[in-house]
Amino acid sequence: MTPRQIAALPDKAWAPVILATGAIEQHGPHMPVAVDALMGQAWLSLAISRLPAGASCYVAPPITIGKSNEHTGFPGTLIITKETLRAQILAVARQAHAWGFHSLAIINTHGGNVPVVIPTLREIRSTLGMRAAMLSSKPIPGLTTEESTFGIHAGEVETSWIMAAAPGRVDLSKAVCEFPAKASDPGEVRPVAAPALVAWMSKDVSKSGIMGNAPSATVEKGEKWLELGATGYAEAIAEACRAATTLG
Ligand SMILES: [Zn+2]
Repeated sequence: MTPRQIAALPDKAWAPVILATGAIEQHGPHMPVAVDALMGQAWLSLAISRLPAGASCYVAPPITIGKSNEHTGFPGTLIITKETLRAQILAVARQAHAWGFHSLAIINTHGGNVPVVIPTLREIRSTLGMRAAMLSSKPIPGLTTEESTFGIHAGEVETSWIMAAAPGRVDLSKAVCEFPAKASDPGEVRPVAAPALVAWMSKDVSKSGIMGNAPSATVEKGEKWLELGATGYAEAIAEACRAATTLG
């Protein structure tokens, strides 16, 4: 859009600006480092075409490099600090607010960003008075207990998504099944309520960089799960519109 078009938008009071926060980091020997950055764009293009009537949103340029210090030591991993990520999100919010937008929503595709995104959204709310939300999609049904608990990186789900969203980008012959922990022995990778929550590094818990059952990924699963995720994100965006309208 041109500056004049942005100035004239009629629904800035309630239509959220969507900011994708991703990562450029190792995703195993079988996938490119751009997976998380790429998935943000995939979700946005799929979800926007499924928005219900009456919902609206605007898309900010994405933040493609994230707080990926847990993947230090793998070639191709790019890292910004938590301070830089916070500052980048705040800068987008502050300027969108200055142009008249009242609502910001984040589609985050990298787990390592979450502990930065949540307090930053609260900061946006408290300092700028904007609506600020993190959008989430629907949980994927039918995964094994192992995959749903410890398939947290470059496993069955992410590999299937990329096979469907970016054909030709996955070399499944290089995929391995490697879980960082077992349900019976969670090791370093504990659930959130663990008595000692260890700050693990990927290289501590995975030789390949994969955490999950990557070889079980298929295009068919990817297509099904992309559709499910896109529907979920479309509902989340519509929800963000409603919240902004109701709260004024
Ligand atoms: Zn990922």
